[in-house]
Amino acid sequence: MRISEIFEYHNKTFSFEFFPPRNYQSILELGINVGQLLKLSPSFVSVTYGAGGSTQELSFDLVDYIQNKIGLTTMAHYTCINANKSKVEQDLEYLIVRKIENLMLLRGDLPAEGSDGLDSDFLHASDLIPIARSLDAFSIGAAGYPEGHQESRNMDEDVKWMKYKIDQGADFIITQMFFDNDLYFDFVERARKANITKRIIPGIMPITNYKQINKFTKMSGATIPDAIVQKFEPVQDDPKTMYRIGVELAIEQCIDLLKRGAPGLHFYTLNKSRATVDIYSSIPHGLST
Ligand code: FAD
Repeated sequence: MRISEIFEYHNKTFSFEFFPPRNYQSILELGINVGQLLKLSPSFVSVTYGAGGSTQELSFDLVDYIQNKIGLTTMAHYTCINANKSKVEQDLEYLIVRKIENLMLLRGDLPAEGSDGLDSDFLHASDLIPIARSLDAFSIGAAGYPEGHQESRNMDEDVKWMKYKIDQGADFIITQMFFDNDLYFDFVERARKANITKRIIPGIMPITNYKQINKFTKMSGATIPDAIVQKFEPVQDDPKTMYRIGVELAIEQCIDLLKRGAPGLHFYTLNKSRATVDIYSSIPHGLST
């Protein structure tokens, strides 16, 4: 089913993101975790795609498996940096044949040296979106950045380009992780002022491994508020306490988002089910429907 059809029947969606496993051990872990998360009846799941290239085939295999063997509505992430038009056309055709109806279309991160010298037919997700839209086969998501994308000069510029992605055919936005809900709601307000009426689904990354999250936030430009840093700094070598604090904070964050009107939650699961299960099952039923 297309995610835009799911929106017609559900005010809120709950979705889980996975990445393709890289070795035998992580295949087993992923199987167990997908099994646990399935019990929560997500609205859809998504599978990331490595812009760098090393896991692209695995990514499509996993999308195919979850959509067609497990039977869950699955969204394939797809990046266009480094791609040429004929590869994109072939890949989209491949996904259509496998009955994949949902895409998260992204540019992918630029190499450290920037876009100069890149052999790519695409510079932005907005170059890719109209190609997929013209096939009339997909519901299309695009990325949004409550703290602005690292390359943007300011939020107005970032929201302007997000609006452009919608105008080119994106049906909804999923956000980068954030840890201060006011950032999300300010971002949604800016988007509404810029005439973006589509759903903006918050991306949730529970902090269960502080060192790892610090690495991710540095890469993505998301910030961790001081109050949260102070909770984690003293316990960063104590995994149990870190897990407990991280889950408690994420439950608080999710409940507040839903109470204040967010149209669902998209969990970056990092292929681990436990935190997402603990968080999701602590959300009062009235808020999750
Ligand atoms: P774009 O929309 O192209 O934006 C990049 C920058 O260019 C921004 O500063 C934007 O304001 C500006 N811009 C946008 N359009 C234009 C335009 N037409 N002209 C001029 N400037 C423009 N990465 C992966 O490799 N694989 C994944 O599976 C993946 N999944 C993700 C899922 C989500 C929900 C999010 C939020 C990010 C994901 N990423 C993934 C990371 C993403 O690839 C990077 O953040 C990347 O740097 C930007 O991708 P984008 O699609 O937002 O790019």
